[in-house]
Amino acid sequence: MPQVSPCIEHYRRIFSERTPEELRTLAHIKRFMERLVADDRFRIKLRDNIDNLNAVMEEYGIDLDAEQMLPLFHRQHLKYRLTEEEANWPLALAWDNYIKQMQRHRDLIRDLGNCPDDNAAFHAWRQRQIRRSLSELGGSAQSITHPIVAYELSKGCTVGCWFCGISADQFQNYWPYTDDNAALWRGIVGEMVSLFGTAAQTGFCYWATDPSDNPDYPRFIEDHYHITGHLPQTTTAAPLKNVALTRQILALFDKYRCVTNRFSILNLKLFDRVHAEFSPEELMGVELVTHNRQSLTTMASAGRARERQISLREAGKSDQIAKLPSDHSTIACVSGFLVNMIDRSVKLVSPTRSSDRWPLGYRVHAAATFETVDEYRAVLGGMIADHMPDQLAAHEVLSFRGDLEFEPLADGFNLYGTGCTHWMGGGPLYARLGELIDAGGHTAGEIRDELVRAGGDIFVVTDLLDDVFDKGLLNDDPSLNGIGSLPALRRAS
Ligand code: SF4
Repeated sequence: MPQVSPCIEHYRRIFSERTPEELRTLAHIKRFMERLVADDRFRIKLRDNIDNLNAVMEEYGIDLDAEQMLPLFHRQHLKYRLTEEEANWPLALAWDNYIKQMQRHRDLIRDLGNCPDDNAAFHAWRQRQIRRSLSELGGSAQSITHPIVAYELSKGCTVGCWFCGISADQFQNYWPYTDDNAALWRGIVGEMVSLFGTAAQTGFCYWATDPSDNPDYPRFIEDHYHITGHLPQTTTAAPLKNVALTRQILALFDKYRCVTNRFSILNLKLFDRVHAEFSPEELMGVELVTHNRQSLTTMASAGRARERQISLREAGKSDQIAKLPSDHSTIACVSGFLVNMIDRSVKLVSPTRSSDRWPLGYRVHAAATFETVDEYRAVLGGMIADHMPDQLAAHEVLSFRGDLEFEPLADGFNLYGTGCTHWMGGGPLYARLGELIDAGGHTAGEIRDELVRAGGDIFVVTDLLDDVFDKGLLNDDPSLNGIGSLPALRRAS
């Protein structure tokens, strides 16, 4: 069994450092916050009964004094949130301390995917995807943890959400936990550990599928725990479809306590039923992601939600989908491998802003199939060798990413993106480098030679080129023949 990671240690401390009474209180604040975000009727009642808040709390079965958490919801008190004065409202302070710990955990999950010693080429490629995402995706980029693998244990999805950000196909079948399948599963997960070490702990077992569609799902994720040391996160939009199955998953959470699960809430009726079925304490390890129309949250403009958004806009109607360019533009999170165990398929993917080019909000850099664990290992090795150059090859044709706007400067250049600016400068060499890349059509070798002719030291010039590459500023979009798009042999020929 691999050692317990700092990520899991941190997560377990969130629970272990609180008394049972503190956890109970937190669970009830969480229930209040869920109701506040999801339910417009509740928000109206709070507003209309500001002098008698506890009657509203009683009506909704929330056993807390609302006066102690005013900064969480009362307009005139919002300004005290995350200030020293917040201590005057102990329940608000308790909630915000918990949220800070959860945000720290999110960042630790991203770090958990680092594997410089186990697989340097993959690590460098993933770091470039993270930097590009932070630059390209605006506000939602911080919440993406870039797990290195997602496994699908079904084909298609029975839920059929109208807003599905990855446009899941109709359900066809699930992958049962037979002796043969279990052996292959354990072999594949074990191979991820031997290739990527503890980064394999970031894996999870759904994508364009819902865990509730596979009755053997708990057996697969418990295997994952025993092989990697991490129980994968479960996200389901059908938590009541098979309550016994859901409770099995929650029991595994209680047993191993690695990461918060998520229930997607499709309508207010489901929200009410989930609150009725599960106590606040039972849902302490479950985030409710509310997609009902009364919810204050916006959806990612990707997949079917993006299609709906386009048709609503064409009809001159408003929508509840992300409206600002810096808003939520993808639900894809994996920078690594998307594996379907029924098809025995692997895709190398990374998040991107959804667009006509990538409507599902993720790029596909390569795709292949496998039958055995040995073939799986060979497929991944081939993808890494072909698509993850550790430095710029001389024959790569360079251009800046299409979403960046170039501005020449006397001693360098600026690149303007969605809500961010990248500056590179320090002298005429930088300025010339920017001009040559912006002009397009030049290979890395041609640019290096030109800069050396202009007086640059060969080592300085090489470092400069690698720096622009490592920052994720160059076009590496496979649909635009970006860097690493073509297998190495074809690129070299
Ligand atoms: S959002 Fe999830 S549950 Fe809904 S259709 Fe897509 S994959 Fe299925």
